Amino acid sequence: MRIAADPYTELRNRLFEAELLFSTGVDGLYGRSDTYQGIADAVDHLMHRWGHDVGATVVHLPPLIARSTFDSTDYIRSFPDLVGSVHVFNGGDRDHVELVRRVSAGGDWPALLEPGEIVLSPAACYSLYPMCAGRLPAGGRYFEVSGYCFRHEPSTDPTRMQAFKMHEIVYVGEPDTAQRHRDDSLARGLSILTDIGLDVTATPANDPFFGRLGAALAAGQLDEGLKFEGVTAICSDDRPTAVMSANCHRDHFGAPFGIETATGAVAHSACVGFGVDRITIALLVRHGLDPSTWPGPVRARLFS
Ligand SMILES: [Zn+2]
Repeated sequence: MRIAADPYTELRNRLFEAELLFSTGVDGLYGRSDTYQGIADAVDHLMHRWGHDVGATVVHLPPLIARSTFDSTDYIRSFPDLVGSVHVFNGGDRDHVELVRRVSAGGDWPALLEPGEIVLSPAACYSLYPMCAGRLPAGGRYFEVSGYCFRHEPSTDPTRMQAFKMHEIVYVGEPDTAQRHRDDSLARGLSILTDIGLDVTATPANDPFFGRLGAALAAGQLDEGLKFEGVTAICSDDRPTAVMSANCHRDHFGAPFGIETATGAVAHSACVGFGVDRITIALLVRHGLDPSTWPGPVRARLFS
């Protein structure tokens, strides 16, 4: 008798069998097929139209972030369990000999590496804030940022990837406009996702802060209504998956990165972020694994 896998493993197996995703042998790290990537690119394009509408400056980001920027974001305090740090070899010939010896002997060669000036990027918008340092124009600025992000949370749930694409529309500037951007973006994001056939609802949310201290941070974030997620059922009706989030940062980035409004006050920021891979998988589950058979209106919105 075949023992049924959990619904997450079941879905991942279906995506592997259809060769939409390819296994690398590591949970949460996958190759993408051309069909999968075509859907992901179409989702990116929906966000790009939005960025164009609000006059956003477009910044495509690498999957790495400057360590100095990362250190200023407080991420390591809040999410130490999700961090990925890049370490590099700075040694000389003698160190190289020892490095090779350890590799051959199955020894601890990573111990010979040193932290590089970069870490893996945990969120697309983080790299943006140091670029905004100084005085902003009146009315603030909109940015559209996208790139691969990393979070160390290996899982058989195919929507919980370690390396995944994030696409955000970010506002930096006046406090009331930042709040409005968050609220309007939540509504607009839900409407875009509904238009491509996803059943998405908004729910107050908190970030997965680490440890005992983190519980208090999460409660505070919920109390103050700083974060909302758009969730949809992918593998489970009881435990829907977040596919977008709308976040009010207040001066959390404006203060450490020295960003000022046109009148010299500390700038506020807000972002709406879309999990491009999660939306891609949600679409495959909702409409079927072959996009050529998807409903006409959905195909028209995505692919024309
Ligand atoms: Zn963001």
